[in-house]
Amino acid sequence: LFAVKGRITSLQLTNPINQPDEWEKAALESFQQGAKEATTVVDIDGKPHLRMMNPFLMEKGCLKCHADTGVKLGEVRGGISVSVPMAPIYAASRAQARNIKLFHGAAWLLGSGLIGLVAWRSQRESAERARAEHAEELASHDGLTGLYNHREFYSLLEDEIARTQRYKRPVSLLMLDIDHFKRVNDTHGHQGGDAILKGLSDLLVKQARAIDRVCRYGGEEIVVILPETDATAAANIAERLRAAVEREPFDIGDGRIVNITVSIGVASFLTDADSAQALVTAADTAMYAAKQGGRNRVTRYEPSMKDGNSSS
Ligand code: GH3
Ligand code: MG
Ligand code: MG
Repeated sequence: LFAVKGRITSLQLTNPINQPDEWEKAALESFQQGAKEATTVVDIDGKPHLRMMNPFLMEKGCLKCHADTGVKLGEVRGGISVSVPMAPIYAASRAQARNIKLFHGAAWLLGSGLIGLVAWRSQRESAERARAEHAEELASHDGLTGLYNHREFYSLLEDEIARTQRYKRPVSLLMLDIDHFKRVNDTHGHQGGDAILKGLSDLLVKQARAIDRVCRYGGEEIVVILPETDATAAANIAERLRAAVEREPFDIGDGRIVNITVSIGVASFLTDADSAQALVTAADTAMYAAKQGGRNRVTRYEPSMKDGNSSS
């Protein structure tokens, strides 16, 4: 029914029908050498077949009719073989291999797709985060100098004053203005002026303490919030900054070096003012007094000073 053929054969023939073919002969000989089984895939009528043979040994009951063969009890009497057509087995295994390939292919596609999706999403998220950070930077920082901008300055100052009031700690403010900056612009051009503003900002950030906040108040006016600092300490810091600016050779490109000086007004919360706005006005007044006093100097606010609008 399944084209499986069985045969009994021997090297000591009783019935010539059972004559072994070449393959069977080789198998039987191998049994005599001690082999326990012979299997090979061979072509029969051009189609692959599995041929398999096991030895059968002489038993007591066999001797009754086959003693004449000379084969002794326990010795190899012959072999029983089957040949099984391989075509249906090969077909089934091909189908199975195809299914495995399909399954693995689908799993690979799904896996790669998922990895791609996760990578794409995380890339998009980090791009969005970078955009948000950039927008935040633009909103709170000045484009030319990189310092906090006017709006952020007031926000930082209000926060600092709120904290100061709660913990009864001092906070001071420096208002710094470049001396004769118009002349610098006139001599070196607006771009030269811009380079100095940038260089001055970098210098101030470098010279300030980590807790200090350096902000661009207006055109060439820079304010520095000094937390935990009373008026005397603030005046010392202001003097250090003033001297550093005076010493610094500002490179404005093309090998041109320019020196500048600054006038700095100092005011403190709560001694000189009781609000953020009043503190800014007091520092501005002190700065105006420094200009009046001859520039390139630090001046502390005093109540006797007349409010001057120096922020021209
Ligand atoms: P002083 O403060 O010593 O009284 O003299 P000044 O010449 O610095 O004062 P004034 O306030 O009259 O002029 C400030 C100048 O600063 C005017 C403006 O052209 C210049 N300025 C303001 N912002 C910028 C800027 O962003 N870049 C450049 N290059 N110049 C600026
Ligand atoms: Mg000026
Ligand atoms: Mg000015």
